[in-house]
Amino acid sequence: MTKLTLPPKLLKMGLDSPKALVLHLPARYEDETELWPIDEALEQGRFTAVQTQGTVLACQVVFRPRRQLLVTIEDHTGLLHLRWLNFYPSQQKQMAIGTHLRVRGEIREGHLGPEMVHPNVKAVAAEAPLPKSLTPVYPTSAGVSQTVIRKAVGQALLHPSTQTFLADLLPPQFMTEFLPGENWYSLHQAIYYLHQPPADADTQALLERTHPAWRRVQFEELLAQQISLKRAHAARRERRAPQLLVKPKLAAKQTKGKTLEQQLLAVLPFQLTQAQLRVWAEIQTDLAQSFPMNRLLQGDVGSGKTVVAALAAARAIDQGLQATVMAPTEILAEQHYLKMREWFEPLGVQIAWLAGSLKTKEKKLAQAQIEGGTAQLIIGTHALIQEAVHFANLGLAVIDEQHRFGVRQRLEIQQRVGSETVYCHQLMMSATPIPRTLAMTYYADLDVSVIDELPPGRKPITTKLIKSSRRSEVIAGLQDWLQKGQQAYWVCPLIEESEVLQLQTAEESYAQLNHALPQFKVGLVHGRLKSAEKAAVMAAFKANKIQLLVATTVIEVGVDVPNAALMVIEHAERFGYAQIHQLRGRVGRGSTDSVCLLMYAEPLSLAAKERLQTLREVADGFEIAERDLSLRGPGELLGAKQSGDGMLRYVDLQRDAWLVELAQLAANRILHEHAHMVDQQLLRWLGSRTEFLKA
Ligand code: ADP
Ligand code: MG
Repeated sequence: MTKLTLPPKLLKMGLDSPKALVLHLPARYEDETELWPIDEALEQGRFTAVQTQGTVLACQVVFRPRRQLLVTIEDHTGLLHLRWLNFYPSQQKQMAIGTHLRVRGEIREGHLGPEMVHPNVKAVAAEAPLPKSLTPVYPTSAGVSQTVIRKAVGQALLHPSTQTFLADLLPPQFMTEFLPGENWYSLHQAIYYLHQPPADADTQALLERTHPAWRRVQFEELLAQQISLKRAHAARRERRAPQLLVKPKLAAKQTKGKTLEQQLLAVLPFQLTQAQLRVWAEIQTDLAQSFPMNRLLQGDVGSGKTVVAALAAARAIDQGLQATVMAPTEILAEQHYLKMREWFEPLGVQIAWLAGSLKTKEKKLAQAQIEGGTAQLIIGTHALIQEAVHFANLGLAVIDEQHRFGVRQRLEIQQRVGSETVYCHQLMMSATPIPRTLAMTYYADLDVSVIDELPPGRKPITTKLIKSSRRSEVIAGLQDWLQKGQQAYWVCPLIEESEVLQLQTAEESYAQLNHALPQFKVGLVHGRLKSAEKAAVMAAFKANKIQLLVATTVIEVGVDVPNAALMVIEHAERFGYAQIHQLRGRVGRGSTDSVCLLMYAEPLSLAAKERLQTLREVADGFEIAERDLSLRGPGELLGAKQSGDGMLRYVDLQRDAWLVELAQLAANRILHEHAHMVDQQLLRWLGSRTEFLKA
């Protein structure tokens, strides 16, 4: 096969083969198919770029006031000035007097009359032919010119391997069966069209990626993804995991004839809600299978996911296996640790704690207990996978706030279960609900349970917006609140650029509030505190020894103090949807009316205004997540960022949601009727990315 020689710069962009090049699709197009005489170009080019040509009359460097290059061209109809504010000496040479130039750009009014600033120019003969198709503009990285990419793509399209690579795997009627109304292109047709659209192509549809040629490509990509998700689904059922059944014999050996799970239920100070009972039943069914559970437990903040996780852990421990609970931040992990200790220690369960902040000696001890199998329940942060921890016999891994972990990290926990052939059950938990389209595309091998009910007696949270210029009124209100014996949070803004600055504002607010509320004890907690210090402040707040807790976003997840029903968030306009929703979930945990005050500084951007108003009006986490998705895209919700790979290159889940369902149907059909082409389809579209589907 003829080999393409590609410049190293392209290889660096991952454009290392004809396949990669033909799938590198244009971001937009330039229309160089038409040529106007200069006088008409001056008229036509006011709002869109136009192409014209002429002979260079003058080419000079002028200073007015900056150094710039001014070129004038003429044809038989008129004059056109061209201006460059940055230029190389070589450009000046290229445009010497008498040269014939073809130029493309928009017309603006300049000092000397109408002109083009930084136009595209080519020195070509007046009769040089015009391209027949629109000129593609490719996504590129610094230092790689369009000329280089265009040439390489052009060669790739002609390369003998490309014909086979783009051959339709699906019979032609297959597509029309799924969507008869759609004008389905063949894949080959679609790819060529996108690289070289004819002059009369619907450029709007191309740009918006709704053109039939795009549709075909998007469908193919989704199809591959759905197939691979279904494969992963089947593969999981082939793996082995310990069956966690309640064995009556074993149960009889436990204290007073009760299983650990029963004992835990007996000591809980509350009854499980219907929703909790339902999801626990779903989880129990999974745990009793001989293949690993892969379940996501969704529930709004405060819906009571932790106790469900504890029950699952009890089930594993009952069988003589270890259970672990992993959380993305130390403060959240610590909350779990405290809670689990409260529940399980009286029942005689051996609990180990592992976090990055532990002293080496403590870590070593915890690791020894985990590896030796004396630790039954292990709570910790990423440290559980970062440090060289190996579990003796892990039966269940609970991962809280799963979207904060990368896919790779989730894969990694599987490698630490203490056996080469047996996998552990996984329970992921999240308060950030995954919208349906996302669940269908990224999580097709994930079973989802939803706690759609809050524990009884919870009052809805009232969210109010208030300008930060009314800060003193807020503080006065806060005083009244505390006077009633209630507690409150004061959340300081996230300052992404600088942790130091963030700490500084927190300290300023702390000082101010301390001064303004002398009769109350004010505490401060932030990310720079040692974990023992943090724990001490949190414990004091929980015990009502501190009435007002000033905090940076470290309290975003996990803190649980029912008597604190007021939260003030400073500079709420700097937070995202999910963050505020999580934060305000800290209040509304007791039986008093809860309030969340969003203080904002003016002027507000339009986006921030919309965000704050939505948060005031919408309490439902699902709806908030949908809006969040439409603004941010799926990457952040999924933690796909951490994995470094967006899974879908051509599909936008908002725009193309309807194609997802179609692709899902088609994937089922293909797996049954056209199984022989499945691997080819996967390889073509996903390449090495399929690994991530296993997580
Ligand atoms: P989240 O789902 O946000 O993790 P938690 O598990 O932290 O919520 O639960 C929030 C609070 O509600 C905790 O104090 C927990 O003990 C309490 N809780 C959980 N389930 C119930 C229930 N069925 N009835 C009353 N309180 C409950
Ligand atoms: Mg929680």
